[in-house]
Amino acid sequence: MKAIEKFDMLHVTDRVLVAVSGGKDSLAVWDLLTELGYQADGLYVGLGIGEYSDTSGAHARRFADEHGLKLIEVSLRDEYGYDVPTAAAATNRVPCSACGISKRHLFDKAAIDGGYNVLVTGHNLDDEAAVLLGNTLRWDIEYLARQLPVLPARDGFPKKVKPLVRLTEREMAAWCIVRGIDYLVDECPIAAGNKHLAYKAVLNSVEHESPGSKAAFYLNFLENMSPLLAGMSVAGKDSLHSCATCGAPTTGENCAFCSIVGKAAALDPVPVECVLGKSVGKSLSKRARR
Ligand code: SF4
Repeated sequence: MKAIEKFDMLHVTDRVLVAVSGGKDSLAVWDLLTELGYQADGLYVGLGIGEYSDTSGAHARRFADEHGLKLIEVSLRDEYGYDVPTAAAATNRVPCSACGISKRHLFDKAAIDGGYNVLVTGHNLDDEAAVLLGNTLRWDIEYLARQLPVLPARDGFPKKVKPLVRLTEREMAAWCIVRGIDYLVDECPIAAGNKHLAYKAVLNSVEHESPGSKAAFYLNFLENMSPLLAGMSVAGKDSLHSCATCGAPTTGENCAFCSIVGKAAALDPVPVECVLGKSVGKSLSKRARR
């Protein structure tokens, strides 16, 4: 794959951990990497989003079983006492916020604890272009400076790579069909409030009028803008220390993940239906509190 070589993502001796959701992109990248001869295990995080999570987990497990691959599983509810709907209620933020913090923490932890050199995610060209559009609309230099296909390992964080950044959603779906990979098609039921989907729709509309714009937008950003932004990320310069609760690297006393655990693990489980709207409201949080 061109991206792996161009961005020096992986070497054959690396121990690779692939974050697997059960969707087309993560299963396709796992399949591609094992086809290319990399030693790649999978990591599935059970988010507790009702039937959606049950089905996504089943797809990840089936793929691992059929291909004789190792799948590590972590359950938010079983191991940390909360799930994403409950975390959304506890933090009074859109579900994707608590979900993203939880996934990033657990991906990093699993990679470091398991001795993996590289953490792989299935972000494709459509994903990265949508994130870039959001960051550009806000001229968010901090995020723009860190929007790279490879983030090197540092201070307790594993190296992170995105091998699919040159490939579109359609190409990944086509790969899965050709390879007979059975993936989760349904969208997450609590994605409401996630601007990522709106940015994707805008870019698809531009692409329809002007084919090639999406790839040019993202790939020319990497080629022309990223070098100018190098070194401008404050996060890269912040001094990190260990979270007082879990020991993970953080800039505060406690990391964002432990803050969620502290708020959400004390609540009764909140049903998925309660967080279908954009706001998850303080009243919901109070009602669920023991
Ligand atoms: S759409 Fe949001 S809540 Fe659903 S899995 Fe993705 S990040 Fe998590």
